[in-house]
Order: sequence, then C-alpha cells, then structure tokens
Amino acid sequence: MPRPMKCRKVCRLPRTQEFSPANTDLAGQPVILTVDEFETLRLIDKEGLSQEACGTYMNIARTTVQQIYTSARKKLADALVDGLPLRIEGGNYRLCDGKEAHCGCGGCQRHRQARKEESPPE
Ligand SMILES: [Zn+2]
Repeated sequence: MPRPMKCRKVCRLPRTQEFSPANTDLAGQPVILTVDEFETLRLIDKEGLSQEACGTYMNIARTTVQQIYTSARKKLADALVDGLPLRIEGGNYRLCDGKEAHCGCGGCQRHRQARKEESPPE
C-alpha cells in the first residue's frame, strides 16, 4: 500500500516569484519552479545543507529530497541555458508555522518578522 504523500514543509517563500531575461527579445514559455523545489535549492545550495538534513528540515525522506532537488536543478538549467523566464508557483507544500521540533529555522522569516513588528519600540 502506498504511503500517503507527506507534506513538504517550506520555511520561506521566495522573495520574488517572477524572473525574466533582461534581453526581452528572448521570448519563450516560462519555466515553472514549484515552491517545494525552490525550498530544496534554498536549503541545499544557499544554506549548504546535505540532502539528508534538508529532508529532516522539510519532514520528508532523503530520496524524496533527491527527486525534488534534481527536478529543480534541471528546471534552473533549462531557464539559464535557454534564456527562459522563470516563475515560482504551486507545488505540494505547507508553510512552516515555526513550532516544529524538527524545524531548524526557529520560526519562518514571516513569523519572525511579525514578532519583531509586534514588539514595542525601544
Ligand atoms: Zn520553519
């Protein structure tokens, strides 16, 4: 029996969801990167996590991380090499609420930001 698909935890949404080549002569169908794919790129390539650690962070198996990450890299390469616009949207994920034992983020950026704004001025 197949196990139910685990929700992929995402701690941080992209700051921008749309990228396009500066050379606008290069028109083409945008490459769509999903938010969970974006998160593996963020954790592995930007934060330097291993695939193992990335899996723990997102509450998914390392093999799943590998699949998502491979797909993400392929899409990035397509956009870069062919000069295509890139859009980040959709995917199978849930946003981190910052309360999980596994979560190494200490609360996602959004929540940290919110808390900061709530605190009274010094
Ligand atoms: Zn988090």
